[in-house]
Parts: sequence; structure tokens; C-alpha cells
Amino acid sequence: MINITRLVLQLLMASTLVLHAAQSPARPEPGRIDQQQVLASQGEPGNWLHGGRDYGQSHYSPLTQINRTTVTGLGYAWHLDLPMEHGYEATPLMADGVLYGSGPQGIAFAVDAASGGLLWQFDPDIDPQFMRKVCCGVVNRGVALSGDKLFVGALDGYLYALDRHDGSVLWRVDTFTDRGRGYTITGAPYIAKDLVIIGNAGAEFDARGYFTAYDAETGEQRWRFFTVPDNAEGPWEHPELAAAAPSWDPDSLWQVGLGGTVWDGMAFDPNLNLLYVGTGNAAPYPRKLRSPKGGDNLYLASILAINPDSGRLVWHYQTTPGDNWDYTATQKMILTELEIEGRTRRVLMQAPKNGFFYVLDRETGELLSAEPYASVNWASHVDQVTGRPVETSQAEYFDHPKLIFPGPQGAHNWQPMSYSPDTGLVYIPVKEAGAIWTLPEEPFAYQKGGLNSQSQYIFTTPGEWGLDSALAKTLPPFEELAAGQPDTTIRGFLRAWDPVAQRLVWQQETSGPWVGNMNAFWNGGGLLSTGGGLVFQGRGTGDLVALDAASGATLHSIAVGASMMAAPMTYSIEGVQYVAILTGIGGGNGNDYVPGMAAYTYGNQGRLVAFRLGGGEVPRRPVIARAETSLAQPPVPRRGTPEQIAAGANHYLRNCAKCHSNIDGRGSGIPDLRLMDAATHAAFADILLQGTLVAKGMGNFSDLLQPSEVDDLHSYLIDEAWRLYEQRSAEQTGAEWHSADTD
Ligand code: CA
Repeated sequence: MINITRLVLQLLMASTLVLHAAQSPARPEPGRIDQQQVLASQGEPGNWLHGGRDYGQSHYSPLTQINRTTVTGLGYAWHLDLPMEHGYEATPLMADGVLYGSGPQGIAFAVDAASGGLLWQFDPDIDPQFMRKVCCGVVNRGVALSGDKLFVGALDGYLYALDRHDGSVLWRVDTFTDRGRGYTITGAPYIAKDLVIIGNAGAEFDARGYFTAYDAETGEQRWRFFTVPDNAEGPWEHPELAAAAPSWDPDSLWQVGLGGTVWDGMAFDPNLNLLYVGTGNAAPYPRKLRSPKGGDNLYLASILAINPDSGRLVWHYQTTPGDNWDYTATQKMILTELEIEGRTRRVLMQAPKNGFFYVLDRETGELLSAEPYASVNWASHVDQVTGRPVETSQAEYFDHPKLIFPGPQGAHNWQPMSYSPDTGLVYIPVKEAGAIWTLPEEPFAYQKGGLNSQSQYIFTTPGEWGLDSALAKTLPPFEELAAGQPDTTIRGFLRAWDPVAQRLVWQQETSGPWVGNMNAFWNGGGLLSTGGGLVFQGRGTGDLVALDAASGATLHSIAVGASMMAAPMTYSIEGVQYVAILTGIGGGNGNDYVPGMAAYTYGNQGRLVAFRLGGGEVPRRPVIARAETSLAQPPVPRRGTPEQIAAGANHYLRNCAKCHSNIDGRGSGIPDLRLMDAATHAAFADILLQGTLVAKGMGNFSDLLQPSEVDDLHSYLIDEAWRLYEQRSAEQTGAEWHSADTD
């Protein structure tokens, strides 16, 4: 173990932080975060230097002050209100008494971890016009620390190196290869030695996945790795693409980009000198269209092991060959040692969207085991010898719609899982939901910068984006599709998984009051486990819950008054252990604002909240008085032919749904277009074609939509407004809601 005091400490120019540290002599002087410190972080339990705390990204802290016995005394310590009403997905870092976090669009901030005082804040100042290209919400999943720098990727593709002591910009680079395509950055940068590595999002649009390594000191590009080739014959940017090309049809839809975006999980093992990178799903979704003659389509939905010195691939493991189902393998990976059949193995663990929990030897990429951690029907099992999933007939939806488990949200998404070396268990926020997939008959038409996924799906829930949708009416009866398949009731669970035995040890249902609809699977946020024998989770209901890591029993629950998706973290300063979490929901797959959500009651302003033993109740924001505007009759009459409305629906899906996602039941705080007032209806064409609301973040679509298309879109939205009105009128005041009570 390397002693932190042997590390070179670098004194810095006077900054707020230094002044503060000088007043608190017990606090360590701010030093450079380097590889030694990261390696030593197990011996430095008060800090949290990576997204997952240690280099293994375990989301586990050895701190014990807050434990099974004391946790009932955990309460409010402080809070800090943050900009924007939107989803916060990052796990803050803690070094030298300072918390570092990020939020929507790539804002970043530094906060005194003992008092909650803001030290500095950074805003990348995104051009509102850029918001049009957002695939999955304007979220950000975190920052990285190295040396005196804090790194954050902004939504619009710029990677920033900030002085971590005052937030000033030291350098920035444009990480995008083509600004006309649907790229965004939503993921956190990762550090490997003297490099900072960043990928991007946008596979559903027209992104060709890649990730890039920059010199952390200067921002100079060292190497770039594309996850998929862009042609059949070459030349290619690097030799791994020549190896991948035979896994694609020469007539693949190269111009679309094909996906494989790197939007979330990475990990670096400094001992093996390997950087692990998870790659995303395919675009378009159906392989039949994307690569008509088939093939595995490397390196989609894969885990790549990269030598960071050279940028060359050392091994790869593809979780979902020839992906048709949005089964990303971008989910966060955990590196640890496990005792398997009498041998200590250095493993990489991942629970990707496809429903199988993978344990790989992280030196070689050998599959050690893979078993389903949720309902799976697209594959019967993963073959231990070939390492490949064995697909079932249920997986193929091109000729007949199929109910496929897991659905495109995955059995696990970006919400961090956590591994406790004390219990030997991995804690996973699991989503139990299938989706009915179908391939439309309309021919595929590539739209640059637009949605290019082609396949369509609905969830097994009542309502406009489920079994009452227009699409559902074109499908075989639900009973027929669901016959013989897993339980179609949408639910969420916190599952404790034994990664050696590959079996469930305990679970707690986290559906809240939403059993059967999509909020059930988004209610359970990311996880933290601790040396105090606890697992922490924030929920959409506004409850921060502490469970017994061994049994799953709920030991304590705190009403935070804010909806949560992000993972909690913990740290210690001057002998006091804190738990902190970023609050705020939203994003491409955030919860809807419905009764029962804290965001519905108290609003969704971002907030960083910290807790300590002996703390009190969390101060709540005022309850929002919500007029039932959705029950008002739409201010304009229905119009348009069924064909125009159908065409408008398509324009909505391709251009609007990424932000105005309310119509599919996934609100994000951005206006619900079904509830437009008369003035907005009157200004509709000008808003889209003249850009009259650009200053408010609503882009100008004149380069993407013709006036007649805007008219069809408007007809569709008016039709949707009337459908909502008729539905709500029929329901009168709607269902009763209960406070969250899970067990
Ligand atoms: Ca996707």
C-alpha cells in the first residue's frame, strides 16, 4: 500500500478551496490526484476518487461509522440547489474535502464537502440549437479527476479540462468527428495513466461509435478507436476494423454510422494496464436491414480491453452478436478478484441490458460464467464453450411481432450497480419488463442527424405508449403475443446477486406505486454499498433507503423531497461520515411526473443533498399547486387526414420525442406538447421554422422539416391533445396514488 504522504503535494495559487483548507488545518492540503493515489484509495477510505470510488469501480466504500446499528440516526446534513430542472445521473467525487459533480448539459461544480458551500460552478454554455440532437436527455454521468484537473464532457461534444481548484478552463477539445450527425456526450470521462478517455452517445441516430484518448495535461489527441468499420474494403483507421469488417455484410448501411457508441461504462486496471470499454447497440436496430447478410457486427454490444499506451485492442468479448434489440454493453463494469473453483481470478463483471450477468477473466477476456439476472427470452443461455448466447425463435421479430425480454430499456441500464467485498454480493437495480417489437413495412429512409432506428416497440403497459397506442392496434392480440412468455407485469427490483454461484440471494421490489407501468422500473436508482453493511438507494418517490446488505431488510428510509436516479456515495471528513446524492429525474428514460413522484409534488430542481448521523429532516421545497390543465379541452379543433396525422407522428418521433418525451409517458420537465395553449398553437410554425423560441432552448428545425411536414406534425399533436383529453375525461380524476412502500 502506498502511503499518501509520500506523494508530491503541489501548493496552488490562492483559490477559494485553498483559503478554506487553510482555515481547517485538519483537512489535507489539496494535492495532485495521481495513479498512486488512485491505487492507494483502498487505504484512504474517506475519499471517492472515481465514479465508482476505486479503480475497480465497485461503488463500495469501506467506511463504517454509518452502519447497520447507527443508520437509524442518519439525517440531513446540508443541501445545495443546482441549476436546471432535469435528471442528475452523476456520482460525485470527493478529494481533499471537496465534492465534485456534474449535471445536465455538462455543468460541473465543486462544493465544500463538510458545509455544502459552493466553491465554483462551470457551465459549458451549450448552443440551444444543439439540443435538437439529443438522443437520451441532456444528462451527464459524471466527472474525472487527475492531477489538478477535473474533466467533464459537455453535451455538445467538447471535453473540458478544468482547474479543479477554481473551475477555470485549462483546455478544451472538440471530440466529434462529424457535427452533422447525432452525436452527444452524456457519459463521464475516465482516466488511464496520463490519458483522459471519452466516448459519446447517439446510436439510435446516425452515430458511428468511437472513443478518444487525450493527453490529460495538454488535451492533445493520442489515439482514437472506432467501434465499427465504415466500409467493407478499407482502408480503415486502425487494424481492429480490418478484423471486424468480415463480420459485416459488404452492403451494410455504412452511411448511417451503425452505432456501437460508448456512452457510459469504462474501467482501467493499472496492474494489467488494460482499459475496459463497453460499446452500445446497433443502428438501425434490425440486423436484417443494417447488415442484410448477417454477421456478428463487431464491435457492437461488446466489452473491449485496450492497451492505453498504444490504443490497440488486446481482447474483446461481444455480449450480443448481431444486436437487434438495443442491447448495449455500455453498462458500468466492476473489476475485482473472485474465488472461482479454487482459483483467485481477476474478473470483470457486467450486467448489460441483455439480461445476462457476465463474469470474465479480465486479463484474457475468457468467459467464466454468464447467467440471467432477470427475465430473458431472446436467448436460452450463453454457451460456456463458444461464449455466445444461444438465441431462441422468440428473438426474431422481423416477420411477426414478438414480446421480447428484456425490453430496450434493458434489465439494467446506466444506474450503477455495486459490489461489496464484505458480502461478496453485487447489488443491481433491475428492470423487469419486456417489449413488443415489430419492424414496420415502410422502407427505411436515412435521415442525417435524425432517428434512424427503424424497428418499433411498445411496452406491456396500458396507455399511449403501450397497449393503447396506435401501433398496438396494428399488432396481434396481446394475449397471443404474451402466451408462454415471462410475466408481463412491469416491475423494478433491487437484486443482490452472488457472482460466483451466479444466483439471486435476495431482492426487494422497488416498483413503488407503479407496478405495471414504466415508472416501476425507473423508480430504483443507482446503488452504494458500504463497510457498515449497508446498501443505499435513492428512488423516484423521494425516499433514500438504507438496506441491510446481507438480508435486504430496510433499516432506514429518509424522505428527501426530491426524486432520485443517481447513485449515492459516501465520504468522511474530520471523523464524520457523510452520504451524498444528486437529486433530479429525467432524461431519455426518466420517470414521468405523476402523483407519487417527489418531482411531481416538489418540483425537479437539481439538488445535492448530504446526510450524517444525528442529522434532522431534509428541508422540502414548497408543494407545487398543480392545476389539472390536462383536463382542459384542447384550444384548437381536430384537423388533418389520418395519413397526415400518421406522417406527423413519424416527424414527432424523429425530431421531437427525444426531448418532448411526454407523449410516450416519459416526461422530462420539457413541455408536454399535448398541453400547448392557444398562443403556442398560433405560433407553432414560426417556432419550428423561424426559431422564435431558440433563446428558451427550443431549436430551429427549418433545415430538417418542410412547412407541410410541420403542418402534419401539428395535426398529429392536436390529435394527441384530443386523445389525452378524451382519455382523462373518461377516467375522471384518475387513479388513486399511495406513498411509496416497498418491501
Ligand atoms: Ca440505445
